[in-house]
Amino acid sequence: MELIALPGEMRAASRRARAGGRRIGLVPTMGYLHDGHLSLVRRARELADFVVVSIFVNPTQFGPGEDLDRYPRDLDRDQDLCLAAGVDAVFVPESASIYPDGADTFVVPGAVAEPLCGASRPGHFRGVATVVTQLFHIVEPDVAVFGQKDYQQLQVIRRMVRDLHLAVEIVGEPTVREPDGLALSSRNAYLSPEERGRALALSQALDEASARVAAGEDRAAEVARRARRLLEEAGVRVDYAEVRHPETLEPVDRVSPRAVLALAGFVGNTRLIDNRVLVVPGAGGQRENTR
Ligand code: AMP
Repeated sequence: MELIALPGEMRAASRRARAGGRRIGLVPTMGYLHDGHLSLVRRARELADFVVVSIFVNPTQFGPGEDLDRYPRDLDRDQDLCLAAGVDAVFVPESASIYPDGADTFVVPGAVAEPLCGASRPGHFRGVATVVTQLFHIVEPDVAVFGQKDYQQLQVIRRMVRDLHLAVEIVGEPTVREPDGLALSSRNAYLSPEERGRALALSQALDEASARVAAGEDRAAEVARRARRLLEEAGVRVDYAEVRHPETLEPVDRVSPRAVLALAGFVGNTRLIDNRVLVVPGAGGQRENTR
């Protein structure tokens, strides 16, 4: 496994792999890897012969007062996990090589980046789209794998790839959870045991919503209202609880044939997100994995 810090060296390694007839897969991460990240790596290994994991805590996607400085980091452990997972190259650039002095060009996504996390975290998806574009140009992957855990991010990237004719296939993978339902997240490291208990309300609200929809509830506002109430009752400070169109993330009146329930809330000082694609039984909406 190669450990690469310089963009030029990363591109050269990718080009060598491609010249050898290998298909290149990229898994972009901010490190502090967990089984959710590793499930993306496994998928990338199925889809490609040369798998690159990037580890970069991207400053431009953090707002003022957010957790950029205290975001958890453990590069030694991440490297061990990548080695064990059969990763071919770990790309760990310095901030200065991604954003050289005076860097002032950004990729600005449109309407799909506006609601939900885009509204709560102004500039967040501009930072995401900019760094992901750079990673695509540095690694030149045939395929890139992202988690449905960051559902809006996945839709922003799909849209960007389409709009800008980027030559990369985007694959979305289901959310990996703890046995009790909590979605794995590097930020779970911030939670005290008591907060972790409260955080379970997110996945429970998703389960409840799926069950209600399966039982015939089709009113988007009602599903969202109920999810919000469950979160509030558990002591989660709700940022948003919304039922939206699964691709455009525009508001919808009906869940049918399918819609995404997107949740974000603070447990103590920790902001957590989770989501579920809700599928109305028999409405012909069963197209994507619903976890
Ligand atoms: P992050 O390091 O949090 O920026 O995440 C890197 C990638 O891993 C993104 O595509 C995330 O959507 C994905 N990811 C994060 N948590 C999970 C999870 N629990 N299950 C599956 N993918 C995840």
